Amino acid sequence: MIECHRPLSLACYLRRLIEANGPLTVARYMNEALNNPRFGYYTTRDPLGSTGDFTTAPEISQLFGELLGAWCIDCWKRLGAPVPVFLVELGPGRGTLLADVWRTAAISPDFRAAVRFCLVEASPILRAKQQQLLSGLCPPPVLSWFSRLADIPDGAILLIANEFFDALPVHQFVASSDGWRERLVDCEPGQTDTFRYVLSAGQTPALALMEDMNKSANLNEVCPAGLSLAYDIGKRVMSFGGAALIIDFITRSSSFTLQAVCGHSRHDPLVNPGTADLACAVNFSVLSKVARTAGAISHGPQGQGAFLESLGIVLRANTLLQSANTEQARMIDAGRRRLTDPDSMGELFQVMAITSGDLVAVPGFDSP
Ligand code: SAH
Repeated sequence: MIECHRPLSLACYLRRLIEANGPLTVARYMNEALNNPRFGYYTTRDPLGSTGDFTTAPEISQLFGELLGAWCIDCWKRLGAPVPVFLVELGPGRGTLLADVWRTAAISPDFRAAVRFCLVEASPILRAKQQQLLSGLCPPPVLSWFSRLADIPDGAILLIANEFFDALPVHQFVASSDGWRERLVDCEPGQTDTFRYVLSAGQTPALALMEDMNKSANLNEVCPAGLSLAYDIGKRVMSFGGAALIIDFITRSSSFTLQAVCGHSRHDPLVNPGTADLACAVNFSVLSKVARTAGAISHGPQGQGAFLESLGIVLRANTLLQSANTEQARMIDAGRRRLTDPDSMGELFQVMAITSGDLVAVPGFDSP
């Protein structure tokens, strides 16, 4: 990132960057908006929950983390119960999911003794929240924080990435009459710190790299960071054994999917960068392809609703309902429906798994 004389906002910093170097790729814009060390959205706040900007599955209901915990224990047994096993969460938010996994692990003391939670988190504010929640629950040496998957020690892994891939920067392309062009972010002429989309005049580095892929698949949005992460996960499970779950939202439309959310409402992604969450729909078919290229098995994707139902969400909700008061019962039921209903998160969110060759069958998926 370039030197800048005390900009007062991310918009000001981005304007100076564009004035110095020309328009930014959408990927660079997204990365600055989310992760800029001083002004980035995730760097400066806890965005989750009813008081934040958006609510994720583990924040909606404990059912989500409990079922994913049971999934991890089942996969661990199928892997031959390796000790230790690294349970990696990419982008653990407030740590809620891992807290629910830890409680669920009480059903399997051997798993609890073997598991090491590896939290891959960029945001210092969220790291502090995760530490606050989890250090009271999990004894040392269960908890460790990392900046990247590559830093986690060698060994078998279980990995969960819920609403993580959608935050990875994308490049966007447009098929124009003169051939493919990259969509870029430029300053709006004559206005202060406002931005607009423009097209590259010709070739860009990302266009050159993606050209073949674009031609064959007609993709107008590509997430290199997501592709390389899916490849790394595939390589990692093949080297040491393991199973990974990727859960995220999709789109059925073929247009650009970059979206912004602020205070639970849609926001213009180019307005006040750094103050709204930016996310893009995840292309599961390219992630599967890349994981298979690394030699791993890919399972799914399938709807979150069908996945959670096959893991027994109805049964688990009924067990919780037996000891719930009226208000708790209403919350349990509403949470289950929100996670699984087709017109809520049940189909909009999809789940895929990447596993080592010894895990041909995993819970929640038909055999590939
Ligand atoms: N999985 C959580 C939070 C989803 S929000 C949940 O379901 O509630 C996205 C999370 O990914 C946040 O914790 C954010 O700080 C983290 N994150 C985003 N980009 C990241 C990156 N490049 N490296 C590490 N963490 C990142």
